[in-house]
Amino acid sequence: MTLSKLQKKKNNTSSTYWKTKCDTAWGALIHAMYNVCAMENVDVTDPCAGNLEAHHLISRGRIVTRHSPECGVLLCSKHHKFSKICSPHASPIGFSRFMEIHRPVQYAWVLEHLHDTQESRPNYKERLVELEYLLHSTTCVSRYANDDKWKEICDAASAAEAD
Ligand SMILES: [Zn+2]
Repeated sequence: MTLSKLQKKKNNTSSTYWKTKCDTAWGALIHAMYNVCAMENVDVTDPCAGNLEAHHLISRGRIVTRHSPECGVLLCSKHHKFSKICSPHASPIGFSRFMEIHRPVQYAWVLEHLHDTQESRPNYKERLVELEYLLHSTTCVSRYANDDKWKEICDAASAAEAD
């Protein structure tokens, strides 16, 4: 019996088929976790505008942290790509300062994991199960946006995952 191309991709847990599904689930998780732009009510000099977008704090090219909930922050499109004061794409240093001041716990996580590398082939199919579980548990506790709450929610999500 010969397998179709699609079936071969499904059988390979490191394939782009599963990777793409993880990307989508990760984005949905970041949206569910935060619901509002991280800079809403913080950066009053440059108000929010546009759609909400999930931003990777560590480059997407780093496969090992690409789908970590801690790696994501939700930003409106202005604060994601266009603000010359504080967006990660137009003002990386301004954004870094924002993280350091307003999300110190998550900022410390980023510094700790900035150079993490993948040791073996990633199992995206397994990651997808974890992401979908986190998404399910997160939708119950969404609508938080401050840094104190962040660690609490991440710990709760991890504890739920371990059950
Ligand atoms: Zn914004």
